[in-house]
Amino acid sequence: MNIKENLESIREDLPGHVTLVAVSKTKSTSLIMEAYEAGQRDFGENKVQEMTAKWEELPKDIRWHMIGHVQRNKVKYMSDFVSLIHGVDSHRLLVEINKRAEKSDRVIDCLLQVHIAEEESKFGFDEAEIIDLLDSGKLDELKNVRLIGLMGMATFTEDNEQVRREFRGLKKLYDRLKERLPHFRELSMGMSGDYHIGIEEGSTMVRIGSSIFGARN
Ligand SMILES: *Cc1c(COP(=O)(O)O)cnc(C)c1O
Repeated sequence: MNIKENLESIREDLPGHVTLVAVSKTKSTSLIMEAYEAGQRDFGENKVQEMTAKWEELPKDIRWHMIGHVQRNKVKYMSDFVSLIHGVDSHRLLVEINKRAEKSDRVIDCLLQVHIAEEESKFGFDEAEIIDLLDSGKLDELKNVRLIGLMGMATFTEDNEQVRREFRGLKKLYDRLKERLPHFRELSMGMSGDYHIGIEEGSTMVRIGSSIFGARN
């Protein structure tokens, strides 16, 4: 694996407004440094402890993205430094992030995770739940979180048209919510296998791991 070459060829595919999040979960800090030396600054992790350990060791201008499911009791470990939390899937988690952000004297950017795949999953809101949450007014009290967009994962399938339909549905929801949420500016959709489709359907942020760092064990 030549990380620098991989990054360069992916960047050639990305329009200027799309942020590349290099997903470094399970990968060593020395591999992350290879990507860093090649100019990469946004990295994604799916476990809070792993991300925190890497943050402690690595250059402080790295922007850390939490892309995995977050347990509320782990928020405190990352509230001082996390750049964007992609996987917010409940009001209770938002309340906890708000509380920890306030203690850290920060406003933490978050994406709401939307369940768009056909596969059963415990994680992610559906459209009606997000609308209910907005209508409830509960979000207005959370002064230390800023909702800046949505994240979704398409079904793991060879059927590109299905992936496209799911991403298109997410973009439509994003556009609707944007009218009510003034900070909305990021739509995180697309991984190694489907980021081209994600970009065609309006993604502003792709989360790519194996195409940069190689397969994970
Ligand atoms: C692991 C992971 C990715 C990256 O997956 P690749 O197929 O290696 O690009 C993207 N998003 C999430 C939420 C992940 O957990």
